[in-house]
Parts: sequence; C-alpha cells; structure tokens
Amino acid sequence: MISHLHADHFADLIPYGFALRFAPRQQPVPIDPWPGTDEPARPKLYGPPGSNQFLTDLDDTWSLGQHFEQAFETQEYDPHGAIEIGDLRIRFCEVPHYVTTFAMEVTGPGGGRITYGADCCPNDALVGFAEGTDLLIAEATLPRPERTGVRGHLTAGEAGEHAEKAGAKRLMLTHISDELDPETAAGQAGSTYGGPIQVAREGLEIEI
Ligand SMILES: [Zn+2]
Ligand SMILES: [Zn+2]
Repeated sequence: MISHLHADHFADLIPYGFALRFAPRQQPVPIDPWPGTDEPARPKLYGPPGSNQFLTDLDDTWSLGQHFEQAFETQEYDPHGAIEIGDLRIRFCEVPHYVTTFAMEVTGPGGGRITYGADCCPNDALVGFAEGTDLLIAEATLPRPERTGVRGHLTAGEAGEHAEKAGAKRLMLTHISDELDPETAAGQAGSTYGGPIQVAREGLEIEI
C-alpha cells in the first residue's frame, strides 16, 4: 500500500521489484537449489489515484522497462471505498501534506484497529479518523516545526497531541530521521500523550 507518491515511500520497491523479477527462485526453469516455478510471486501493489501512470512514467524516465507492471500486480485504490486483503479491511482518509496523501486504517478480523497517519502536518482529519484506535502510527519527522512556516510534517510532540486528542490506546512514532534520537522523540511525544509510546524500527513485531 502506498500512501503518497514521495520517493521515500516507494523507492525501496524498485530494488524489491528487481528481486521479484530476476531472483533464481522466481524463474520458470530449475536453478539449483530452486525447482523452478510457473507462478512467480507478483504481489499486489496498491497506490493512490494516478499512481499507475506515475509508475509508468518512472519506468520510462529511469529506463526500467515495464518494471513495476512486471514485478507487481499494480492497482489504484479508491480512497472513498474500502479494500479487503485476506481478513484485513483497509480504509482511507486524506490528510494534508505537500502532495495528495492518504492515512490508512487496517482492521483485523477481531476488530483490532491500526491507524497509519502517513505524512501530514497537524490536522483534525487524522484525529477524527483515528478516534479510539488501538494503535496510531504517526510520523514524527521534525525536531521543530518547519522554519518556512509552510507545514507538511509533525514533530514528535505534535504526534503525541494527535494520539491524545484521538484517544488512541497506543502510539508508535515513525518517519524519524536517523540523525535524531528515538528516545528524545519518545520523550517529546510523552509530554503531550499519556498512553504507551514506541518508536518503530525494522523487524519490530507487535500484537493488537
Ligand atoms: Zn511525504
Ligand atoms: Zn515521507
């Protein structure tokens, strides 16, 4: 699922796509130790409206051939509708950012909810969308508000404010620069939100 078409939210799909297209295990003929397959993995890739053309243009600009189309089953989501993937249900909410961006809610079969805020500046839409959620995953990009005055991201303190106003049961901070300290970010969020706070990291698994 792609929330918006900024490079930090889709660029990793390019090397992943190469793995899907060219990995030995994905080939129709046996390549030891892989037996060969007629059904190579071609995962569904959902993007916002306009993303199919965007990815085709990217293929052309970077001379990638039909990279995205061959590696993935690309599809645009309707942000006014819902998508079912297995026993998960996904809904969308547009949030203010520099380009058209959608927050997402994933609801599991037991009713557990994860709300992902994508990239956004402070806004009420996310607060309403995340009301009572089990886990709000919020960006905490900034060490301080944008100096130009044009808002597009959140500070960790503002991420905490959104979780507090929404009554989220837990908060996870993400989209933090690796030049910033996760502990400091969690501390700042803790000054505005009274619930449990975690900072996202690669490989982290949580249960909702
Ligand atoms: Zn962005
Ligand atoms: Zn981003």
